[in-house]
Amino acid sequence: MVHDHSMPADLTRNQELVLGALNTAPAPLSAYDILDRLREDGLRAPLQIYRALDKLMERGLAHRLESLNAFVACADGRCHRKGLIAFAICEGCGKVDEFADAAIEERLGGWAERTGFAVKSTIMEIRGQCAQCRQAA
Ligand SMILES: [Zn+2]
Ligand SMILES: [Zn+2]
Repeated sequence: MVHDHSMPADLTRNQELVLGALNTAPAPLSAYDILDRLREDGLRAPLQIYRALDKLMERGLAHRLESLNAFVACADGRCHRKGLIAFAICEGCGKVDEFADAAIEERLGGWAERTGFAVKSTIMEIRGQCAQCRQAA
């Protein structure tokens, strides 16, 4: 969203369309939002959207926000070299910022080591108000 992405060359047409919709959206999109935007491109079935989303998420090009049941394009290609993905979700304007934080990551790594818990993925969703919305209030 903030960063521009060059699209990988080996995406299918549907994957490209879905990623394009996510890249240009100012806020996370539900699968049905995506379908609405891509109707004119010939996508008709939710299943087409879900299939494309699954592949994009597998490759780390898109993420699902559990609490919103919506999807965003990955804002930081490097986030996936780390185990932690964090999102700040503004409840005012709906904007989502993706970031990675080495200190949180390290603390979690220490905890996992101490407890013997094998972490598969860590996704943080932080809700609140962004700086712009706070200023406008
Ligand atoms: Zn990401
Ligand atoms: Zn905001």
